[in-house]
Amino acid sequence: MANRGRRLMRVLLAMSLVANAVFVWMLRDELPERLAAVISFPAAENPNYVPPVEDGAPLVVAETVATPEPTPDPVAATPSPSPNAESSSANLLIPVEGVRSEDLQDTYTASRSGGREHDAIDIIAPRGTPVVAVTDGTIVKLFRSVPGGITIYQLDPDDRTIYYYAHLERYADGLAENHFARRGEVIGYVGDTGNSGAGNYHLHFSVSIVSDPKRWWDGRNINPYPLLRK
Ligand SMILES: [Zn+2]
Repeated sequence: MANRGRRLMRVLLAMSLVANAVFVWMLRDELPERLAAVISFPAAENPNYVPPVEDGAPLVVAETVATPEPTPDPVAATPSPSPNAESSSANLLIPVEGVRSEDLQDTYTASRSGGREHDAIDIIAPRGTPVVAVTDGTIVKLFRSVPGGITIYQLDPDDRTIYYYAHLERYADGLAENHFARRGEVIGYVGDTGNSGAGNYHLHFSVSIVSDPKRWWDGRNINPYPLLRK
């Protein structure tokens, strides 16, 4: 009798395992959606919900989330800049106060040491002349280098155009990285730092196009002269 009872138990156990397997197999298509619905619950319930961000990169929400209608989910937006954030490089200010457009000289292709081309424009001005932001844009890097001396890298709202200001005497008081400088805002002062040559006061200014805005140093230069000389 005891043997028979144990065998029955084993049979029942086996049957329930098979039933479970069949149940899971039947749900195989629905399950991911159900899980996704559970995972996306906070976003669906709370319009202000912002998922955690890692390393500055927006978290990509799985596209499998089944929603009957499009929801205004900020995370689902493309990581590119907003549609109206176009390059303002077509309307640049001359970056040195008091310099007129007819005073500019195109030194973009002038040769420099080591067979390099200049790839920039030099704007001559007295020591300490205010240097202004050519357009609105974020100060992405304050950098001191051997050739450039005291320099500023500014990123256009288009997220691809970098403006570079070099040989500064000093930065404007309180200037800091991540500051959003306004067009015409004083950001520094003309100097002769770096390889400018002692007493050769001028602003070395260049414009470059980067493919990754986080790699502010890694751009392809374009001639700033026609952009400033208008
Ligand atoms: Zn230069």
